[in-house]
Amino acid sequence: MAILLDGKKAALGIKEEIKKDVLLLKEKGKGVPVLACISVGADPASCVYIKSQSLAARELGIGYSLISLKEDITQEDLIAEVARLNTDKGVHAIIIQSPLPKNVNVEEVSSCILPSKDAEGMHPENLGRLLLGQGSIAPCTAAACMELLRRYKIKLYGKEVVIVGHSNIVGKPLSMMMLRGFATTTVCHIATSEAHQLESHVRRAEILIVAVGKPGLIKGDWIEEGAVVLDVGINRAEGRIVGDVEFDAASKKAAYITPVPGGVGPLTVTMLMHNTLRLFEGYLVS
Ligand code: NAP
Repeated sequence: MAILLDGKKAALGIKEEIKKDVLLLKEKGKGVPVLACISVGADPASCVYIKSQSLAARELGIGYSLISLKEDITQEDLIAEVARLNTDKGVHAIIIQSPLPKNVNVEEVSSCILPSKDAEGMHPENLGRLLLGQGSIAPCTAAACMELLRRYKIKLYGKEVVIVGHSNIVGKPLSMMMLRGFATTTVCHIATSEAHQLESHVRRAEILIVAVGKPGLIKGDWIEEGAVVLDVGINRAEGRIVGDVEFDAASKKAAYITPVPGGVGPLTVTMLMHNTLRLFEGYLVS
């Protein structure tokens, strides 16, 4: 049976480190990091994420400011709000909570956040730095996957890594981070499935990371004996939360596997706090 990659336990370790660093800065009279979250409308899933952000911030001594805007806000007004936060010296990191209303172009609005306040690491400049192997701000879920592997001392060098899903927030940045770790990296997407090649790629994976959002997409018997499986997917199926991988069958073949929930998820909000602290440290030396 596979060893569970426990995201909650890994998150505790990172939180302790963040808490210590925040306290030290406070004691030195440098102030505390402040994260501002812009939320539009009242999407139920967003409300859950916002609550967990605010709880994590409070636990770590990080300031948290929620800016709740009405569903019918225009893109222009939303950009004006971002611009206001960009110039606010009391705010060191900004996140725009997804989803945004259909009339708003998420990428256009997100790219208005100053790179030096970009808590999610999604600004084109920060993504460019990630590609070049520079800087310390990376998209939170991709960073969460890397951190989980690091905490369990799973080596990347020379490994066959297969990532399923090539979204801007998970698959693409993660592929860059894997290359930086000298893993031989394959990225699969919808066309891989349509070409009936998904199974053959998954079967080769020594480390498999799946971020698609389709329950049961990855069959348990596709998993290589002794593989490491990170299931990023979060799906509601038959009244419970499941990932994209058939967990029971996969855990009989894998050496390590993430549970869903309790795997990558708990680390994602922790990496948001980690990014907030790094941005604050950057602000202090600017
Ligand atoms: P997304 O933007 O919808 O991306 C999904 C990706 O999967 C796309 O690259 C898509 O390819 C690919 N895909 C779709 N069907 C496929 C198939 N049959 N075979 C292979 N690839 C396929 O989603 P996301 O935002 O990356 O999120 C993915 C999942 O992770 C969701 O379940 C989400 O809830 C979860 N998630 C979890 C966390 C966490 O903290 N644990 C954070 C973020 C997201 P094309 O674009 O080519 O169609």
